[in-house]
Order: sequence, then structure tokens, then C-alpha cells
Amino acid sequence: MTMSDEKPILFYSTNRRAAPLPFRAALLQGLAPDKGLYMPERVPALRAEEIAGFAAMDYAGIAAAVCGPFLGGQIAADELASLCRDAYDFPVPLEPAGERRFVMRLDRGPTASFKDFAARLMGRLIQHALAREGRRLLILTATSGDTGSAIANAFHGLDNVRVLVLFPEKEVTPRQRKQMTTLGGNVGVIAVDGKFDHCQALVKRAFSDPALAGLRLSSANSINIGRLLPQIVYYFYAYSRLAGRSGEPAVFSVPSGNFGDMMGACLARRMGLPMRRLVVATNENDEFPRFLASGAYRPVEPSHNCISSAMNVGHPSNLARLVDLYGGHMDETGAVLEPPDMGRLRRDLFAVRIDDGETRRIIREAHEQCRLLLEPHGAVGWAGLQRYLEAEPWPGGLCVSLETAHPAKFPEEIRAILGFDPPLPPSLEGLESRPEAFERMANDYGAFRERLQAGYA
Ligand SMILES: *Cc1c(COP(=O)(O)O)cnc(C)c1O
Repeated sequence: MTMSDEKPILFYSTNRRAAPLPFRAALLQGLAPDKGLYMPERVPALRAEEIAGFAAMDYAGIAAAVCGPFLGGQIAADELASLCRDAYDFPVPLEPAGERRFVMRLDRGPTASFKDFAARLMGRLIQHALAREGRRLLILTATSGDTGSAIANAFHGLDNVRVLVLFPEKEVTPRQRKQMTTLGGNVGVIAVDGKFDHCQALVKRAFSDPALAGLRLSSANSINIGRLLPQIVYYFYAYSRLAGRSGEPAVFSVPSGNFGDMMGACLARRMGLPMRRLVVATNENDEFPRFLASGAYRPVEPSHNCISSAMNVGHPSNLARLVDLYGGHMDETGAVLEPPDMGRLRRDLFAVRIDDGETRRIIREAHEQCRLLLEPHGAVGWAGLQRYLEAEPWPGGLCVSLETAHPAKFPEEIRAILGFDPPLPPSLEGLESRPEAFERMANDYGAFRERLQAGYA
């Protein structure tokens, strides 16, 4: 390989006022100091033969080949391959659902949501970076359920990192709680007597508290560049399994909330993945479909409470990256300071809003007509694909829709629509009987600070 001839890729901030950084520094930084998001200054292209060669590789091998060129030689190829093998030790099923139509199930990881894909590789990349520098970090995260368990599981057992998760005691389901509280080891959990917003406020205050500067706090939140790169991989994986060496174009449909997943698809296309169109399916939080149609961006405030709850986002933070990739500038408040190339965005993307009624209808239809068991998020993606195919029929064309969570995470909804309980995936089996450990705390910053000072790192 001739990667060494090329200059390593630096990561710049979408707000352009912070210094560009090499991968490892951007990874440990998270959000850029000017509140922008890090983006690669160039998107490495894969040759058609390289993409064809993925047909003979497993998921972990493809992950190393896709992420490697971004890392600027900061991780040796064999080390990256071993991090990927460790991160991706679960299946990625591609379920057929009609002529050349597939659902890619990203729900077989340890917390049964697609967030495992990004969190597990990011965790290992951070551990690797810290170990090199002999540093340790305390990751603080507030969760309303799913993100916290994905992060806690991703970092569980990694030596240089401790994780502390805060959750609102009365707002998470017992199953969600147990996904965090049964881990032990380097994962600490605090149940706060308050709401999710209170947990988030406690965490934010700790980050900006000079009295805690010595604790090396970090957030590992969803905008970290280390979570974006792994989300490019599964598009190449699906393509390698379904299109092989043909070079034919494919359509992907992505149920979208904060738009990390969709950004992964856009970067995959820039790297050379043959993509006819990308369907971006939102729930009733439809700021993006409206933006694409009108060219004017307005966040949805307050956000709508839809049954695809992980997608109830009124202003997706990763939108700043999409606007940047298409030549514009959106700041952290959502103000468009320079418009992106709307013509090109409209050619590449098809955005569609799916309401709760349609989401429930498609769960029933997919089950009756295609023997698919979808949950609300994946159903938004599948409904979005059907809408696209009505607008631009494509008989015999390869289409893949993403299922981002396991139906067993939404038993009440599935029972109400389909009349039975979805079977548990192996990762969630036995959870009920595992011992739990967590602390309880009032919504009180002073108490939280004292607890942190008493020692976690
Ligand atoms: C987070 C999440 C999404 C939305 O993904 P984004 O990358 O934020 O667009 C969709 N489905 C599920 C189940 C999620 O947890």
C-alpha cells in the first residue's frame, strides 16, 4: 500500500476558528474549542478493486480498511485490525424482504442498538490513544436510556477509562437500567432523583467546574469524530455482501435523529461506494425534510414525542457536518451562515417525514407481508424506502433499509401492534437475574461534586 506517500489527514472544525488536529487529538478533544464539529480535511477514496475485494473480507476486516485511511498512520494496521476484531464480535444480519430488498439489522450488539457499532470502536480507539500517552480519563455521561448503556458497555473493561453514568431514576425502564447497573468494574452508575435534563445539567456543570479540572473529565458524546468513522463501515459491508463485485448502485434508507448514521452514509458515498440515492427518513421532527424542500432551516421547538423516541431531535447536531460536506456553513445554533449546494443535496438525498400512524401501520404491514419484525425506528426507515420507491420506482434495484434497534427493546409497542412479545436477543437474556449495583443521589450539584472529588478515576 502507498498510504505513506500521502500526507496524514487533519481534522478541522466546522466553525473554522479552532486549529486543525490529527486524529488522536481530535478524538480526545470531542467538541472543537470553537463549538464546531471535527471533519476530515479530505475524504480518502477507495479504488473500485478495493471495494470489490471487501466481498472476501469479514466485518472487522472491512472496518479496518475503511477507517484506516482516516487515522493518518497514528495506529499501526495490525493494531487497528485487532481493535476492530475485538469491537465487532457479533453478527450483522441482512434479512431479505422481497426482490432485491433487504433490512440490515444493526441490533445484535451488547445493548441491542446500532449505537454499539460506533461506541465500541470509539471506546477502543480512546483506550489505545490514552495507553500510548500513559493517561487516564473519567467519562461522564447523562442518559435517558440507550446512549448511556451503549457507552457503558463500550468502555466496560478498558483499563485507562472509568465511566460514570447518570440517569433519571424514574425515567428509564428496568431493562435499560439493568443494561448499565449489572456491568460493575470500571462502570459506575448514579440514579438521580430528577429528570434527564437535570442529569445533563449536573454533567455539564462538572465539565466547566475549575475545582474538578484535575479529574480529566471527558464526554465521549455523539458528536465525537471517533463515533462518526465507524458509522461509514456498515454501508460498505452490506454492499459487499449484496452487490459483491458488480459495481452496481444501491439505495440505502436511514432512520435519522441526530444524523450521525446518515453522515456515515454520505462519507461512504464520497469514499466511492456506488449509491443511487440516500433516503433520510425522520419522524415528526421533520426539520430536515423541510430544509431540503425549502432551503430554509428552522429547528423544531419543542421537539415532538414520537414512538421512535431516539429520533426525537429538533435540531440534529450532525447537520453542521452535512452542510459542511456540501460546501456551506451552519453554526452550533443552526444558523446557516453560508448555504450548502442545495442542488447536489437534492440529487443525492431523498428526505421524508413518517408520522407515528404510518410507523405503526408499516410495522404491521412488514410483518404480514414480508415476515419482518421491525421496531419503531427501523419502521421509519422501511416506510421511508417505500415512499421513495413510490416516487422513483426502481424494479430490481438493490435497496437496503437499516434496523437500528432490537424489537425486544420496545415490547409494549410491539405487543400493542402485533399482539405478541418479541423474543429477546441473546445479549439481553439473563439480564433480569444479574446483580445490580448503583448509587442514588439528589439533584444537587454540591453533592455530585463531592462524590466526584471522593474518587472515581
Ligand atoms: C440514536 C438512534 C437513532 C438515530 O441515529 P442518528 O445517528 O442520531 O440519526 C435511530 N435509531 C435508534 C434506535 C437510535 O438509538
